Amino acid sequence: MTTPRPTHPTSSTSGPNSAASNGPTAPVRRVLTDDDLRAIHAAASAATSPAQLLRDTLAALGSAVRPPTGRGSDASGDDSTGDADPSAPSVNLSGYAIPISQWNAIFNMITGRAGLWGLAAEIGLDLATNLLPASYDDPDPRLVLPALTDLRPTEHHLRLTHSAIEAIAECRAHLWRLSSHYHPASPAYRQAADSWNELLTVLLTGYPDARVTGYGNLGLLVESAGGTAWALTYRPKARRCTTSGCHAVIDDDATAHAPRPDAPVLDHHHVPSYPVDGPAPGQWTVIY
Ligand SMILES: [Zn+2]
Repeated sequence: MTTPRPTHPTSSTSGPNSAASNGPTAPVRRVLTDDDLRAIHAAASAATSPAQLLRDTLAALGSAVRPPTGRGSDASGDDSTGDADPSAPSVNLSGYAIPISQWNAIFNMITGRAGLWGLAAEIGLDLATNLLPASYDDPDPRLVLPALTDLRPTEHHLRLTHSAIEAIAECRAHLWRLSSHYHPASPAYRQAADSWNELLTVLLTGYPDARVTGYGNLGLLVESAGGTAWALTYRPKARRCTTSGCHAVIDDDATAHAPRPDAPVLDHHHVPSYPVDGPAPGQWTVIY
């Protein structure tokens, strides 16, 4: 299952951007000044679009970590990706590493602002895997971050249409049917309920400005102000014959068929994995 992650990780000490502490290709370590961090914060605050947000914050970060003009490059060199896409970030910071506390502060500034457009998850992933420099454990306990305002939106505005409200009621009713038919502690109910709770939490916390409508059977469509859209849909499990050696799939009308032309189906009384007249176990997933 793919799940959007709009929340803000507070630590990223591991992963692709973690800096090695030694070795011939170790990144050049930099410690940013308070003024550097304030400049990045100001760039994030002033951004009026996701493209500007990335371009201006990474430019400010690049100015902070790169050596002054004229000294030449002591890191990975190529600072430009060219002019082909003027909205693309144009700073290559892969040759540098900054203290993890500063890395986290910058990550939270940029993703906080990106939340305005419902893009915190997407931009956060790009920052962590491609755009930000590496990080290293803070070597100096005296390193204190300046106090900077939280850039996340102070309020979330989700607009639910009638179709969304009806869909939510239907989802709730489906969970109730699973619980009463299979038992509240059954995997059939737990898996469905867990996936519903997780995606509802994503919807409530990750999209500050979005419109929600009903989508198909037991689904919701979420359209953010930033233009992204995703849908939360229920994926029922196939009802299969549980007899060893029989691969039949049994439809709601109790007819059986082979899932593939070469799949063996025994000529017998099939034993369905869940009742033909019972609610379908499954889970909610995300599609983009
Ligand atoms: Zn069978």
